Amino acid sequence: MITKSSDEKSQKCIFCMIRKEEIHSQILYKDSDVFAIYDINPRAPIHILVIPLKHVVFSNLKEKILLDILGKLSLSARKIAEKFDIKSEGYRLVINQGNNAGQTVEHLHMHLIGGKKLAPEG
Ligand code: AMP
Ligand code: ZN
Repeated sequence: MITKSSDEKSQKCIFCMIRKEEIHSQILYKDSDVFAIYDINPRAPIHILVIPLKHVVFSNLKEKILLDILGKLSLSARKIAEKFDIKSEGYRLVINQGNNAGQTVEHLHMHLIGGKKLAPEG
């Protein structure tokens, strides 16, 4: 079976294109590992995507790297929530994995959703 390399996949990845500035998006946060943008189809007043700079896929990541990158995404999301002044009122962090969760972009990303009372997730 022929499988595509990570480089080949990242060339067609919307988040990699944004990172490479091939597609414009307002960068809300950036550090050496992670960047954040507004979700183009917001489901709440604040809906931000926190994304590793590197094209990585949740289900394929080696355990140690997964632990590291999830920590980095969580820390960045927490900082962004503070910056957007929603720390005390609360917010939701979500990673969708696979079809049943409605995942549409393979490149790992964490949704930061807030700015209103959210319905229970189901
Ligand atoms: P998921 O369903 O968890 O894979 O989330 C992918 C998210 O990316 C969706 O909420 C989309 O609205 C969002 N999205 C897709 N294209 C863009 C884009 N060009 N800029 C910002 N967000 C996007
Ligand atoms: Zn990518």
